[in-house]
Amino acid sequence: MAPWWPECSKEAFNTGLDQLARALKNWSDSRKGKRKGRRVGFPCFRSKRKARPSIRFTTGAIRCEARHAVLPRIGRVKLHEDGRRLAGLGAAGTARVLSVTVRFERGRWFASFTAETEAGRPVPRRPDAVVGVDLGVKTLAALSAGEEIPNPRHLSGALRKLRRLSRAVSRRRGPGRRTGQKPSNRWRRASTALGKAHGRVADQRKDGLHKLTTRLAAEFGTVVIEDLNAAGTVKNRHLARHVADASFGEFRRQLEYKAAWHGGRVIIADRWFASSKTCSGCGAVKAKLLLSERTYCCTACGLVLDRDANAALNLAGYGNRQIAGSGPEIPNGRGAGRKTPPRAQVAVKRQPGTRKHGQTGTVPPQEGTAA
Ligand SMILES: [Zn+2]
Repeated sequence: MAPWWPECSKEAFNTGLDQLARALKNWSDSRKGKRKGRRVGFPCFRSKRKARPSIRFTTGAIRCEARHAVLPRIGRVKLHEDGRRLAGLGAAGTARVLSVTVRFERGRWFASFTAETEAGRPVPRRPDAVVGVDLGVKTLAALSAGEEIPNPRHLSGALRKLRRLSRAVSRRRGPGRRTGQKPSNRWRRASTALGKAHGRVADQRKDGLHKLTTRLAAEFGTVVIEDLNAAGTVKNRHLARHVADASFGEFRRQLEYKAAWHGGRVIIADRWFASSKTCSGCGAVKAKLLLSERTYCCTACGLVLDRDANAALNLAGYGNRQIAGSGPEIPNGRGAGRKTPPRAQVAVKRQPGTRKHGQTGTVPPQEGTAA
């Protein structure tokens, strides 16, 4: 027996094998067309020097205490964060920890607990309310309720620091891909510091996004957002929208699962819905709207409104029509031609989404009342 054998948890080996099994399954599903998304390649070798170290404990003494995490083989580890909420649920018997994944990232160790809980499903505070949300660059989001959530602009704030750090990295002797030159220790340190600074920006953005989606799902029964593709390609193909774009998919993902928790629903406006170009007052559609036009000025009825607020109102209106089941959107007042109005495509695009959300929207409350 190897002398180090008893020191290691058997899960250390299991994790690798489990991940390999998943990777193979993803690969074969992707090849057979059973898996959505980008094509998944055959799993490749990961060097222990490059891969992110992680281990998933599924058996043994796993516990979360107020100040510590208890892990098999490792014992009690002090937590940086407050573990009281999970610990309380565990003590009350309402949550059962199924597994914990420990990983090393940006100089820190993280433990994420997967727990099964029978906590009652929360209901949105305003179950009948419909809110349209327009995501943007200038502001993080505009709500049709009239609220504007400012963009914290974490990146711009950290830009000076990032610039300095990456300059430091470029002045150290880094790895040479062709020459096989080993990076110096000073390069490693500088590189780690840069990675940390980038990570902090990413964390701040994630935090803001989570808070926003949680609030929306907790308050409104129906949230209407625009299609991901519409945001990415149709409206803007010039600017640095991709900054917001990257988190748009994440925003939608979070909103969908959080709405499902609350028994609410998310309506995705189809990609041909001109949320920015339409007037929220009279329904006239502008043929062209420059991105630099921050306020919407309607030439038909004289409405003057913030661009994003106008879009949010349109999305809310779209949601209301969807709920009322009035079919395709009302024709616009001025008969301005829409570039691509394929009715069939609209119907195909819309139905699977709403049906799914409709189901998640109606089932949970029934469970709630039964319990
Ligand atoms: Zn108008």
